[in-house]
Amino acid sequence: GIRSADRLVAELVRDVPDYPKPGVVFKDITPLLADPEAFGHTVEALGAPWRNATPRVDKVVGIEARGFILAAPVALALGAGFVPVRKAGKLPGPTLARSYALEYGEETLEVQREAFEPGDRVLIVDDVLATGGTVEATNALIRDAGAQVAGVSVLLELTFLAPRTRTGDLTVHSLLPV
Ligand code: AMP
Repeated sequence: GIRSADRLVAELVRDVPDYPKPGVVFKDITPLLADPEAFGHTVEALGAPWRNATPRVDKVVGIEARGFILAAPVALALGAGFVPVRKAGKLPGPTLARSYALEYGEETLEVQREAFEPGDRVLIVDDVLATGGTVEATNALIRDAGAQVAGVSVLLELTFLAPRTRTGDLTVHSLLPV
């Protein structure tokens, strides 16, 4: 029979146990990216809730590194600009920074200070929403830069980690809650 596009997408995400460290099940999206039908459906579905949003989405933020791959085509599909949020030290300044706690240690994300027009409405796109810490820090960065977050679209949401306790009142769309 004909498989639904969503099912095709789900089948092309590979679970990798104990990567990058013991106890973590890594969600590998590379088989999905290698399949143009599934990749195209994913981009379409990530953007769909925002396609006719009023006010419109002005910018789409992608989070280094897998977020870039998904967010850039979503931006084009929505007629919006693309803005990268990167690990510390990768963007030429002036930049704004936010640090947040990981299970072990700490991560710092940066955005360019002039990346947005004042009041821009921004969609955050990433591959996996796990604890929600990355989206929480990215939301803070976007606000620091004078824009506002319209919402979040992710491919996978690890609901057992309760990420929405960190994303607060942001509107979050996930294609595949697991
Ligand atoms: P978190 O800040 O805990 O929500 O983690 C989200 C970020 O870490 C995203 O940018 C993901 O790419 C990555 N990530 C976290 N957990 C996983 C996982 N199980 N598989 C793949 N990527 C993950």
